[in-house]
Order: sequence, then structure tokens, then C-alpha cells
Amino acid sequence: MRLLLVEDDVVLAEGLKADLSRAGFAVDVAHDGVDGEFMGNEVDYDAVILDLGLPKKPGLEVLKDWRKQNNTVPVIVLTARDAWNERVDGLRAGADDYLGKPFHVEELLARIDAMVRRRDGRADASLEVAGLRLDEERQEVMDAKDNSHPLTGTEFRLLRYFMNHPGKILSKGRLTAHVYEDEAEHDSNVIEVYVRRLRDKLGSDAIRTQRGQGYVFIGQREDKT
Ligand code: CA
Repeated sequence: MRLLLVEDDVVLAEGLKADLSRAGFAVDVAHDGVDGEFMGNEVDYDAVILDLGLPKKPGLEVLKDWRKQNNTVPVIVLTARDAWNERVDGLRAGADDYLGKPFHVEELLARIDAMVRRRDGRADASLEVAGLRLDEERQEVMDAKDNSHPLTGTEFRLLRYFMNHPGKILSKGRLTAHVYEDEAEHDSNVIEVYVRRLRDKLGSDAIRTQRGQGYVFIGQREDKT
């Protein structure tokens, strides 16, 4: 999953980015409201973490403008600790959730997970699709026969994206954008390597190649050996 973090406190932003990356997210950072708004409109993020006190354009205005343009990306706003009015303003402007500063990164992670789950219409914390169950904390996948397979960071991010979009054709470019951290790594040929590794673990039918278009996640069926 790809996140946008809009936060002008550079030290806080770098720390959060490291924590979120460790948790398996690809993270882009913007340090002011204008850049943040632009990036949020250009890139199809899974969620945005938006500070309200930002240079160039306040977070609240950024959020209002996204919503005015029908950008429905899930947004959690970061507010000052006891500022109930900021929380109300944020929710009224179209935020999905809020978190008061300072906060524990575990709470931010839990809220992002919950927000993305709601967007996907899931009530449960474990991601279970087509015979596979993804353990997001241990970064491993249980197959239809209850064998667990540990995943590397990139394998985990790729499989999570597949499992969030089962049965859909996903282009290499789209997969690359949601799986990788840095532009430098945006070589879509690498996706082929990771798809092959996931097939080695889950069976060659788990991910189908759609010639010229990309991949479709199929998963496993119970009756298969
Ligand atoms: Ca700020």
C-alpha cells in the first residue's frame, strides 16, 4: 500500500516514514500543503496522513479542495492534542479519522489499517481472500492447507495489494507504484521476479498473467493439492 504523509516537521516526518516503511508501506512525503495537495491528486494513494498546520496552504484547505474535486482517498488528520475544534473541523472537511499529537506510531498504524479496511468493506483485521490468509503483523501468508509461508518485505507488500484487489487486472506499473518506496526502484520488470517468487510459494495458478495487461490474483482453492 502506498501512503502520502504531509508533515512539515522534517524530523517527525522522517521518523514516521521509517516506522511506516518497516510496517510494510511505501511512503511519499510532502512538507507543505501545496506539494501535498498536488501529490494527493496525482497519485492513487491508499491513504493520506495529513498534518493540519502546514506552510503554504493549511491542511484543512488541502482536504476541502480534495473533497471538492471528488478525491475520496482515506485521510487521517494529525491535530494538536487537546484541540477538539480541530478534530471537528477536520471531520467536517472530510477526514475519515484524526489523531492528536503526540501519538504512538502503533496507534497510527492501527488507525490506518482500520481506515483502509473500512474503505475495502472489511470488518476483520486479518486479510482472508480466496483460500489465503495474510498475517499483517508477522508478514506471512497461510495457504489453504494451513501451511505458513514467511514473506520478504516486498513480497508482503505485493501480495497484500493483490489480495486487496482479487480478480482485477493489475498492470505492472500500478503494482510497481504501490509496492515500491523510491522512484529509483520503479523498474516494472522487477515485479515479474516477485510474482514468480509468490507463485513458487503459493502455486503457479495463484496469480494469472494477462498478456499485455498485467496480472490477476486468483488465490487458492481448498480442494486443490
Ligand atoms: Ca505542522
